Amino acid sequence: MRSLPRSLDPLHDETLTGFVLRLAHRLGTTPAEILLRTGLAPGGSPGLPTRLPLSFHYHLDEAHLAAFARATLLMPAEACMLLVPLGQRYGPLNPAFTPRSTPARMIYDNPWVLTRSTRYCPPCLTGNGTPIQDRHGGPWQRLWRLPVTFLCVRHQRLLAHQCPCCGALAQSAHAGSAIARLSDDALNPWQCRSAEARSEPAEHPAHACGADLSRESAPVGELDSATMALLVQVQRHLAGLLAAGGPESTTSAGAPVPVAHYFADLRAAVAMIFRTWPEARPRAGTSFLAAVLDDEHASRTAEAQPLLNTAGKKKTSKPYTAPPTDSLATGAVLQIATRLLRASDPCEARESMTPLVHRLRDADRALSAYLCRAAWISAPIRAAVGDC
Ligand SMILES: [Zn+2]
Ligand SMILES: [Zn+2]
Repeated sequence: MRSLPRSLDPLHDETLTGFVLRLAHRLGTTPAEILLRTGLAPGGSPGLPTRLPLSFHYHLDEAHLAAFARATLLMPAEACMLLVPLGQRYGPLNPAFTPRSTPARMIYDNPWVLTRSTRYCPPCLTGNGTPIQDRHGGPWQRLWRLPVTFLCVRHQRLLAHQCPCCGALAQSAHAGSAIARLSDDALNPWQCRSAEARSEPAEHPAHACGADLSRESAPVGELDSATMALLVQVQRHLAGLLAAGGPESTTSAGAPVPVAHYFADLRAAVAMIFRTWPEARPRAGTSFLAAVLDDEHASRTAEAQPLLNTAGKKKTSKPYTAPPTDSLATGAVLQIATRLLRASDPCEARESMTPLVHRLRDADRALSAYLCRAAWISAPIRAAVGDC
């Protein structure tokens, strides 16, 4: 593998796919060509790759990583724009809390990491005004791939998740490829790569939507200042825990735990909140957030309803366990989840969790047992919810 004539320094918290898009833009070529030249083409087939496996977001084996680092003139550590290191702090990507048979399997059927699309902050995509970001845009950030990131603290705005023009999920994977339109060299890294809704199918390849995602879309209804302040506070707290060099431990259910355990507990708390709604409704910080969750819960119930009437193995609790797609609903449920876990001692934790635990057991015994497994939540929360 020869080095590229020019490379790029990865930007702070940049994803591998974002880096490939910026590099292709810099060299005036297609993402497919970059994948081929940097050893990221899935092995075997000759010629330009037609897809980038979704698992490459998360993990690369030694050989791929070494080839990529050599071709891009980066140190292997610098070349690590993957999600796998986030698992040290984020339980839903940590094998201790999300056991999987191989690293590549971590992303499958794991709604707590976004690999088929991403959230994003338009002003962040515009870049920070440096010449390199003026030319190729700001980073598509790794933390936007974690559903617990719902707000840009720097720009004080909720993250978007759709193209304002065509409505497609941002950076949505097409045909199992982490980058859509691999052989398109006409798009900037900040443009929507979804197929244009109106374009003709069949033999003519669809045009890309091409909308500029860094442009401010019309505001989707202003948040009142109390709600915004509360959501910023929740996001700051979570971002502080996820940051490399952040604290080693934090408090969950009234006892200190490593940070990764805390995020595993948050995931379980979200499932409990949705499955037992409106039990936790009084804990919503503002009436606006409570109303947002009323709507979110109603849509989950509607999703679960048809499953009740299907034969075979039922997955009726599934609609309640995933984080919301929408940033506002995510912020709303995480505000309550963080509050639930914030007890000052194990006694208080037990007191605040008990009503939810009881209600969950009545409503969904299978889910209640599932959420209490040692390989799903931390020891303190297990103590808090155990045999209430
Ligand atoms: Zn931003
Ligand atoms: Zn679009």
